[in-house]
Amino acid sequence: MAKRALFEMDKRLLWKFLINMGYRGVRSVQKHKARMKKGEYFPPFLYISIINSCNLRCQGCWVDVAHEESKIEVEAMNKLINEAKEVGNSFFGILGGEPFMHPELFEILESHPDCYFQIFTNGQFITDEVAKRLRAVGNVTPLISVEGSEIVSDERRGRKGVYSKTMRGLEAALDNKLITGVCTSLCQSNYEELLNEAWLDKLIEMGVMYAWFHVYRPVGPVMHAELALTPDQQLQARRFVVEMRAKKPIAIVDAYYDGNGEALCPAATGMSHHINPWGDIEPCPIVQFAKESIHDDRHIRETFAQSEFLKDFRQTAAEATRGCIVLERPDLLKELVDRHGAKDSTARKTAMAELESMESLPSQYRPGTEIPEKSLAYRLVKKLWFNDFGTYARAANGSNGNG
Ligand code: SF4
Repeated sequence: MAKRALFEMDKRLLWKFLINMGYRGVRSVQKHKARMKKGEYFPPFLYISIINSCNLRCQGCWVDVAHEESKIEVEAMNKLINEAKEVGNSFFGILGGEPFMHPELFEILESHPDCYFQIFTNGQFITDEVAKRLRAVGNVTPLISVEGSEIVSDERRGRKGVYSKTMRGLEAALDNKLITGVCTSLCQSNYEELLNEAWLDKLIEMGVMYAWFHVYRPVGPVMHAELALTPDQQLQARRFVVEMRAKKPIAIVDAYYDGNGEALCPAATGMSHHINPWGDIEPCPIVQFAKESIHDDRHIRETFAQSEFLKDFRQTAAEATRGCIVLERPDLLKELVDRHGAKDSTARKTAMAELESMESLPSQYRPGTEIPEKSLAYRLVKKLWFNDFGTYARAANGSNGNG
């Protein structure tokens, strides 16, 4: 992987990545750990859905993509990012809808050369011209979602010609030497096709630097529960990732396991939270309930530190499971929302009915099946900067919410 970074990457982009994401990213996690010791809480990784609109209609999408457009304006984004920087953050996940449909996206990226942005995109708006501009700004990695071959992609994403349009965007990003990732939401229709070495080898050959295999979560207005993976398939996906990390010259990201293979929830552990296109602060993208907003008239640090809803979410989720409270205990999530009178933060206003209709499903937590990292590099990085930081031990004695 280091050889690929040295010989394949644009040196200026590699340097930006190492400083803004590497050094400053690690520093933001260290600051998070120090704050937690003092009982204060602010997530080092913010995921921001800057717009709800999208050109695709994916199965299981929980974002109100067909509703009237709402986007976070440049001024509000700059206030949020500047205040988060004051707290020590430098990394921001940019989601949607489709982020490249936000007309001021570049203005936001270019306003913060000292930060690093990961853009979750379907890739269809990445032309050669757009990729050239991303290269010029240098602090962006596009994470392009591929959900299967032509037929599967069209079915999964509700449009025609999806795969070829996405691959054109991917090629434009790679031709312009962007540090590019490919992600997949693993489900029944693409599991066999994409969770294999041949797919990873193809990505490496194309010049892709990292992959991310999410596990499909049956939520939203049309949940398609039939697409969800079985517990054994989820475990096999974990095993595959661990094996490939020790074998292939491509980085593989995950957000659900520590170095020992213990499951975790990045929202319950306080590592990340989500902001929706209306500015509502949600525990995570699929927990569509909120009490606070980035538009509240106070510094974002206070907004997070003073949130009783988020504090109770961390405690309730960590007490209930090391996995996903949405999947495993939607009943407890409903009680939490009722306890705080949290609002339905969707445009469709059916989030509570959806939650009430959910039955308990398995998630990443299966005690006794832990698969530790084989790669020493991943073990070290996770030991230092990506684990539960004592969350589940604290939850056991009822003090997780206070950081
Ligand atoms: S609640 Fe579930 S979907 Fe949300 S961050 Fe935690 S594990 Fe992931």
